[in-house]
Amino acid sequence: MKFSKKILNIKPSATMSISDMAKAMKAEGKPVLSFGAGEPDFGSPDAANEAAIEAIKRGESHYTPTAGIAELRAEVCSYYKKRFDLDYAPNQVIVAPGAKPVLYEAMQALVDDGDEVILFAPAWVSYVEQIHMAGGREKVVDTISTNFLPTKGNLLAAIGEKTVGIVVNSPSNPTGAIYPAEILKMIADVAREKDLWIIFDEVYERLAYAPAKHVNILNAAPEAKERVILINSASKTYAMTGWRIGYAIGPKEIISKTNALQTHLTSNACSIAQWAALGALKNANGDAEKMRAEFEKRRRVIVDMLRDMPYVKVKEPEGAFYVFADIRGCPIPDDMKFCAELLDKKYVAAVPGSAFFAPGFLRLSYACSMENIKAGMTRMREFMESLK
Ligand code: PLP
Repeated sequence: MKFSKKILNIKPSATMSISDMAKAMKAEGKPVLSFGAGEPDFGSPDAANEAAIEAIKRGESHYTPTAGIAELRAEVCSYYKKRFDLDYAPNQVIVAPGAKPVLYEAMQALVDDGDEVILFAPAWVSYVEQIHMAGGREKVVDTISTNFLPTKGNLLAAIGEKTVGIVVNSPSNPTGAIYPAEILKMIADVAREKDLWIIFDEVYERLAYAPAKHVNILNAAPEAKERVILINSASKTYAMTGWRIGYAIGPKEIISKTNALQTHLTSNACSIAQWAALGALKNANGDAEKMRAEFEKRRRVIVDMLRDMPYVKVKEPEGAFYVFADIRGCPIPDDMKFCAELLDKKYVAAVPGSAFFAPGFLRLSYACSMENIKAGMTRMREFMESLK
């Protein structure tokens, strides 16, 4: 009996494994402080919870249209109109059980065997695996030495005959970088010149810290609308990771192609969760802002504490809830080894940068309590001092 090459080639998500490991150690009674999880520690907003309870009481327990309930797709359109002044119709929206499956479906819809997709590294762990699952290959444009933003020269150099698309993630997981309008316009111009798709993943769009401001790529380059697939999710914005609601918005044709795939894959996203997401989109943007303000305070503390440690360099993250710390100058520059020792000696869990194509870096999520941040960074400081 055998396993497929496809499945043997998949690497499990490093971010998930670290948080699972930290949870397991905690369950054994170890005093673990985790900076691994990419999820807010807040509860879901009342507006989401109440909408879900109402939906259960109404008996909304059946299959919904594969692309999502009409009310939610319409609300996504009005959200995009209000927030970004973009006009979309409900048949240009597909709702899925999270942004992850909808990204997977988009890759399946665009990538043939041997095709290439551009990733700007450091890049979120799942893109590369999803490209592989579609039979494609990643072409990595490294941005470490260019302030975590791509240059036109480096982008052009990576594009070849087989390139079909570019993934842009802003605000970025893991770097926290926000792509400014001129960089987005440059990417859109290159995509037009080379006739490429752009997958624009903005699941952290509400988590931007002044003076940085999130820019939707279509506000920077409206003419790119026919080639852009926008990806968003209730997970990070509304602290609704477990409800599993994400969506894609884009040209009708690609949305109907992903819909065709979804009919055979997940069918609709959970009916109750869709109603909850509708409640959140309509009535929880105030809660989202409160959470953003809290993340901003935590960001200040974690960045300052990291900058105060020997050997650590940190570029100010502008969005999302991650700090991407450079430990290349420390006595354990191997990030995998560093994370293993930090967990073993100080019970502090961080994600190795290698998981994001960035060896020598660590990703620390500050979507945890202030108390956790202060205690964890104190322990990490002791660890760094011990390496002297
Ligand atoms: N895109 C990015 C950049 C992410 O960091 C994540 C989650 O970690 C996702 C997409 C997936 O989010 P969802 O919970 O909606 O599947």
